[in-house]
Amino acid sequence: MARDHNGIDWHARAAALSIRGEAVIDGRRVAALDGATFSCLSPIDGRRLTLVAAGDGPDIDAAVAVARASFERGDWSDKSPAARKRVLQNFAALIEGATEELALLETLDMGKPISDALQVDVPATARCIRWYGEAIDKIYGEIAPTSRDSLALITREPVGVVGAIVPWNFPMIMAAWKIAPVLAAGNSLVLKPSEKSPLTALRLAELAVEAGLPAGVFNVVPGFGHTAGKALALHMDVDAIAFTGSTATGKLVAQYAAQSNLKRVSLECGGKSPNIVMADYPDLKRAARAAAGAIFFNQGEMCSAGSRLLVQESIRDALLEEIVAIARSMPPGDPLDPATRLGALVDEPQTQRVMEYIEAGRSEGAKIAVGGQRVSATGGGCYVEPTVFAGVQPGMRIAREEIFGPVLATITFRDLDEAIRIGNDVVYGLAAAIWTHDITAAHRAARALRAGMVYVNCYDADDITVPFGGFKQSGTGRDKSLHAFDKYTELKTTWIDLA
Ligand code: NAD
Repeated sequence: MARDHNGIDWHARAAALSIRGEAVIDGRRVAALDGATFSCLSPIDGRRLTLVAAGDGPDIDAAVAVARASFERGDWSDKSPAARKRVLQNFAALIEGATEELALLETLDMGKPISDALQVDVPATARCIRWYGEAIDKIYGEIAPTSRDSLALITREPVGVVGAIVPWNFPMIMAAWKIAPVLAAGNSLVLKPSEKSPLTALRLAELAVEAGLPAGVFNVVPGFGHTAGKALALHMDVDAIAFTGSTATGKLVAQYAAQSNLKRVSLECGGKSPNIVMADYPDLKRAARAAAGAIFFNQGEMCSAGSRLLVQESIRDALLEEIVAIARSMPPGDPLDPATRLGALVDEPQTQRVMEYIEAGRSEGAKIAVGGQRVSATGGGCYVEPTVFAGVQPGMRIAREEIFGPVLATITFRDLDEAIRIGNDVVYGLAAAIWTHDITAAHRAARALRAGMVYVNCYDADDITVPFGGFKQSGTGRDKSLHAFDKYTELKTTWIDLA
């Protein structure tokens, strides 16, 4: 039954939704210049939601040109920080006002449970926009401690035109982590959402204009990676590219920047994060709930997923028993049903990829403790059971490669040193966690784990005030917090001779 406690029937709401797929350039909805489109299919049931403009090089050129013109005219870049703050606050309020529509679009487009879209994705998006709006009129420049016969000012200026390329797993939140600091700092923006989930980014661009953002400052060009994405990253008139996606694509984006104008590049890429549970941690049920949440939330389609459970030998069976019970209690269900906790994977290719990894785990000798099957929760669609592998060896593919699905690899260890060694022994370094009541072990692990975020006795604790990003091949640069401004501002020294 897809009705929540307010009596809302989400299927009926979905059927009544008007969905548009044109690009937003210069504040207007426009088709691709050559008229090309692609089908936007819902992973819930394979239904076509709309046709989306398939942007390519000429569309990116057009969007970059209006972004550049708006920047040079100072439509936004010359506005006072306080004025920018007001617009971003309006923008956040409009997002909140459109909660149901945005949540529905997100759920239909990428399959996440409607309750998560309502309670997590939309509020986090609004908070991010509001937080950067609030921050921007509280940031001061610096005066360098030079000698008394000079005055050296260090100021921050917007970098210019920013290109952002984002993935499909949290389409709105990942976009907001770019949009908010980029706009707050006074830049103009061309955003390319994932071809798998373009709908909410397009609505956000319309809401921004409604909030008072001058047309042309924030443009969204949907399209494929190898066409629109590549054109944006190669563009000679884009000053910085902010990318979130896989490590393989991140490497290409870095190459495109080097091949073109040496634009500034920031990369938020993949992960294979270790979640380490020591035998001394007293509350096994709590650790199990968090371990399950770390891999099953958002269907496991999370860059920071705790996809490797490292458990000390003596508690392996007890912890696994708890996690298996949780997995059994959350079968994949209709994302439009408010009771559903595990929705659909984003599309058919991703579902097949996850199933291939499950097969690889089996054939390499790991044992399935629970799950492992594709199911059809809505009489079709893209659904995979929450799956836990036991007896995983650190060299197996399921222990080394990012699956991006609800698949947990459980590995045992003897002592903390071994846990840290296994934890660090992958190419990624996005997140890591340790569960222990031994303060020395917690601090030793936090220091030794090569990851951008280390959680102690929790997993995926989150706030806009802290930076998010990775070590090693998980990327360069940080989203969120004031540190994100480093990516979207240039430092300028102005030296005044007073002698
Ligand atoms: P992806 O790399 O396939 O695509 C990401 C974006 O890049 C999409 O918009 C895509 O169209 C575009 N793209 C693809 N090829 C391109 C090319 N040649 N040139 C320019 N752009 C191109 O990743 P995905 O499957 O959409 O997302 C999943 C990945 O994102 C996972 O690896 C996940 O870990 C990562 N991710 C990282 C973070 C983080 O903050 N570190 C957050 C979310 C997701």
